[in-house]
Amino acid sequence: MSMRKRTLLKVIVLGDSGVGKTSLMNQYVHMKFTQQYKATIGADFVTKELQIDDRDVTLQIWDTAGQERFQSLGVAFYRGADCCVLVYDVNVMKSFDSLDNWHEEFLKQANPTDPRTFPFILLGNKIDVDGGNTRVVSEKKAKDWCASKENIPYFETSAKEDINVDAAFHCIAKTALANEREQDIYFQGIPDAVNETEQRGGCAC
Ligand code: GDP
Ligand code: MG
Repeated sequence: MSMRKRTLLKVIVLGDSGVGKTSLMNQYVHMKFTQQYKATIGADFVTKELQIDDRDVTLQIWDTAGQERFQSLGVAFYRGADCCVLVYDVNVMKSFDSLDNWHEEFLKQANPTDPRTFPFILLGNKIDVDGGNTRVVSEKKAKDWCASKENIPYFETSAKEDINVDAAFHCIAKTALANEREQDIYFQGIPDAVNETEQRGGCAC
């Protein structure tokens, strides 16, 4: 029997209440969607095992369980995060306007070694609503925001219709893994091996 190394990656999901964070996670991990609004899920995280290239990876995805309204997420929530997923609702301008705050809040609380290269991913969710007629944030506006923040990868999703959910989380895992490798290399003291332009600027997934 061969033993394979499994890499644990911690991903945290942030964004205004109601944008669909829990639904995206449920769709991805349990392949389920519910219209019912539940502020809490009763657990801090869910896990999903997957393969990225030849690596066995466990994604540990942390949800906010409703505390996002009070901005009272403890230190344990942010500690050791490998990737931060920001979510907004393409039909709610305020949820897009909050992204700067969530981005800043993450950097402040998680305090990553290099805030400039720490991997974020942006998801514009609920693209299914009313066939796109209630949409208020254009794809261009979202992409411009991503470009202004060191080229954060961007996906438009629907947790309800299961659009782009797998692709987004695959990219999240890939990005987190790339960052982990980068840190490995960094801690071995060969920072030259880190090609920043390759690490950033979107995901080849
Ligand atoms: P959270 O507060 O960010 O975790 O948001 P939830 O996942 O609890 O979702 C809030 C509400 O939006 C729920 O009623 C969900 O059923 C609904 N919802 C979530 N994602 C989508 C989506 O992609 N499309 C539609 N139409 N509704 C969604
Ligand atoms: Mg939730």
